[in-house]
Amino acid sequence: MTIKTCKQCGRTKGLRQFDRHPQCKQGRRPECSVCRKAYLARTIAVRREQWRGYRRKAKERDWAGYVLSSVRTSAVRRGLSFALTRLDLPDPLPEKCPVLGIPLVYGMNSRENRFASPSLDRINSALGYIPGNVVVVSWRANSLKKDATPTELRALADYYAETP
Ligand SMILES: [Zn+2]
Repeated sequence: MTIKTCKQCGRTKGLRQFDRHPQCKQGRRPECSVCRKAYLARTIAVRREQWRGYRRKAKERDWAGYVLSSVRTSAVRRGLSFALTRLDLPDPLPEKCPVLGIPLVYGMNSRENRFASPSLDRINSALGYIPGNVVVVSWRANSLKKDATPTELRALADYYAETP
């Protein structure tokens, strides 16, 4: 028998259009490759959504823990040193951005309030995430500063302040 009927879509197809599986009848999965691919894609999407939900809740419940774990992951990826613990974060966490004075919104941030999202910024960009080199500032302040030095930031401010 070189044909099989898919349990999912009901179509009868050639055996080769079913993924191999030693424990299944005819050594192939009961659903065709097309249906299986669609099923896996759906499963991955559901898991990804579950994972996002889990991260969202973790962020709301414990921002410090959340930010340390996500910054550690990105630091490793970028080859930056990471040696922070909760003790290296301000306690309590600041309610306002120390740079811009805007209220910080802990937890999940929408597109609208992403500027108010707190972020962990390295004071000296040449150094990694090490004790004494991080501050909690708004995402807005962090993104404006990027890797600029105080001298560069002053020059930037002076230039735009003087340009009509
Ligand atoms: Zn099918």
